[in-house]
Amino acid sequence: MAAAGIGKLRSWSEAKAAHERRESGAAVGRSEESIREPDPVPVEGEGNDIQTTDLNPFLPNTNVQYAWDATSIGLFKRCPRLYYYVMICGYKPRVESPHLRFGIEFHRAAEDYHKLIADGIEHEEAMFHVVKGLLYRTVDWDSEHKYKNRETLVRTVVWWLLKRPEDNTKTHILASSGAPAIELTFNFTLDSFPLAGEGQPYMLCGRLDRLVEFDGDILDEDYKTTTTTPGPYYWGTFDPDNQMSMYTLAAKVCYESEIKGVLITSAQIMLEGTRFTRGITYRTQEQLDEWIKDLEIHLHEARVYAERNYWPMRDTSCDKYGGCMFRGVCSQSPQVRDMYLNDGFVKGEKWNPLKVRE
Ligand code: SF4
Repeated sequence: MAAAGIGKLRSWSEAKAAHERRESGAAVGRSEESIREPDPVPVEGEGNDIQTTDLNPFLPNTNVQYAWDATSIGLFKRCPRLYYYVMICGYKPRVESPHLRFGIEFHRAAEDYHKLIADGIEHEEAMFHVVKGLLYRTVDWDSEHKYKNRETLVRTVVWWLLKRPEDNTKTHILASSGAPAIELTFNFTLDSFPLAGEGQPYMLCGRLDRLVEFDGDILDEDYKTTTTTPGPYYWGTFDPDNQMSMYTLAAKVCYESEIKGVLITSAQIMLEGTRFTRGITYRTQEQLDEWIKDLEIHLHEARVYAERNYWPMRDTSCDKYGGCMFRGVCSQSPQVRDMYLNDGFVKGEKWNPLKVRE
């Protein structure tokens, strides 16, 4: 199946103006503009006025990032020093996180399944291909984590697949192209912001897994895995939440102006089984406007740090999210930190929000 194509690049101002026209009654429903899809990242020299500097998300010869995704924004908001270590230096832990791998594989399996179904493959055959692919990809994965290991991963994917026939979500069909809304790459300019550099606006980019129709609403869909029981506190952590706000915003600007928020499927991994629950996190247009307003200030802040070549430590974040992986580094005196970084981490390929992922 061809994933939904990529159309014209939009901007935050265009999308906001379209929303205001709808609110005032000037344009009701799906105008061509409101559902237009974004272009792939334009490349310098192809006649576009937006330059991507050969898929480098930073301005040439600087640490000023102009193309941001939810991951890099989240890192920066959490702690500028953490952002520096991961985004600018490219440090990664020597030992793969079982939580990260489990989450990636579960996402990938769900994505593979939806693609196969959209291609017209029958459920049982799609299940076969998804599980086969998962077993191949994880054959060398040797996690010793009690809850998140290969066995519980395969069980979780199989149980999720078995529940598919009774699932009451429907893949949304994009009115602009007639394509199923799966694997939607997005990028759009933040044209109300000051420029990041000469002729270079800031951009938001990333990828949405799937847009779904559920209970009369159009929602982005996301998956989370957890080892705790999802209760009111768990669901409350998604509002406010950087990723959920950005995904709602991106889906509205680039694909579907009527989108209301994100439908989250949580897989609770237990020793004896996996339990699936669902929650929805909604965003109003006013909340999204506020998120963008805040982002302009955050990006200005990032620019100031880049120009000073100094990234402050946000030491109120060190114990959050189960403890930051750089605690062992940041707790050392500055003159010996490089030694601790090189001991505990490797410099891998840098995270690049402009890179289109397979
Ligand atoms: S340990 Fe604390 S200060 Fe260091 S990178 Fe992590 S959150 Fe930032």
